[in-house]
Amino acid sequence: MGDNVIPLADLRYLAPVPVVPTDAAAPSGLLADLRGRPLRDLRISVTDRCNFRCSYCMPKEVFDRDYQFLPQSSLLSFEEITRAARLFAAHGVQKLRLTGGEPLLRKHLERLIEMLAALRTPDGVPLDLTLTTNGSLLTRKAQALANAGLQRITVSLDALDDAIFRRMNDVDFPVADVLAGIDAALAAGLRSVKVNMVVKRGTNEQEVLPMARHFRDRYGPAVTLRFIEFMDVGATNGWRMDEVLPSAELQRRIHEVFALAPLQAAQPGETAERWRYQDGRGEIGLISSVTQPFCGDCNRARLSTEGKLYLCLFASRGHDLRALLRGQGPDGHAWTDAEIAAALGLIWAQRDDRYSELRSAGTLPAGERRVEMHYIGG
Ligand code: SF4
Repeated sequence: MGDNVIPLADLRYLAPVPVVPTDAAAPSGLLADLRGRPLRDLRISVTDRCNFRCSYCMPKEVFDRDYQFLPQSSLLSFEEITRAARLFAAHGVQKLRLTGGEPLLRKHLERLIEMLAALRTPDGVPLDLTLTTNGSLLTRKAQALANAGLQRITVSLDALDDAIFRRMNDVDFPVADVLAGIDAALAAGLRSVKVNMVVKRGTNEQEVLPMARHFRDRYGPAVTLRFIEFMDVGATNGWRMDEVLPSAELQRRIHEVFALAPLQAAQPGETAERWRYQDGRGEIGLISSVTQPFCGDCNRARLSTEGKLYLCLFASRGHDLRALLRGQGPDGHAWTDAEIAAALGLIWAQRDDRYSELRSAGTLPAGERRVEMHYIGG
């Protein structure tokens, strides 16, 4: 692309080029933000495109046939993503989640997974490598993803009933094919399979019990079903509080039919509140960003498809990491790993994000347009 052509997304989501501190110490893995939160989890969006049009993420009215998605040239290459992930790992990242849009639409994704699977933490431990998908391509790709080194997977599924499923994702795609994808993921030997259901009051809430029944009866502990409160992500999904079904109410509805008992969080920063079925048929998760904010131990950063770093799902501004990955210092030298790592450290150390807490407190700053979820991954 010529130097004078700025990719559309750059215009849409302006982001300053990070400052490269000159005297920064080498990464210690002990980096913490202004609230003492470590950097442990990096979500990497590998494409802004998707073959679904979920109303809570990419409403069809906005993301229509004229919507201009990112040109290939502005996407981070697999080598750039791997370099960035390695520098994040030096700062303490232990978990990588590949997202999108729909990540399985990115060609040759297996190659990226192989490259990321070869990374290690400073202690020599492989990174926890997972991916979130709408499952539409999973039957075809599950084995290749597992062979490439993917360890876990999360499949989004908002209903069992085809008509209700269509009302949530606005495409004509059979639920049976997503369910077949889940079976393919288990058959491929992925060690953890989770299913995420976004619950919208008045649209798919009647599917909560059928979903719970289906996954506990068919899979028991092999598949964990998680319910996500409808969130005001981005600026296009028409979010309203009266369409949020609070997790506490949802938990009560399930408990009345399938008795539940609370479980401890598996690790700090976990987004889901865990509940186990008292009869041993597995567990569910409740992700309650609206009614029970969990910013207190949020250790997640997000890298957009063309290399902008966001420190919160509800952020309005990012940091143009691609400019460093592809750029040069004032004397013309290509920025080194140590310099880029120093810039990352400075960004995280100044982080103070806690959007959901502010929303709950009713003290959100006015007017800032939030970045779209399809662009930075959920
Ligand atoms: S709102 Fe932002 S800071 Fe809070 S948990 Fe979500 S991503 Fe983290």
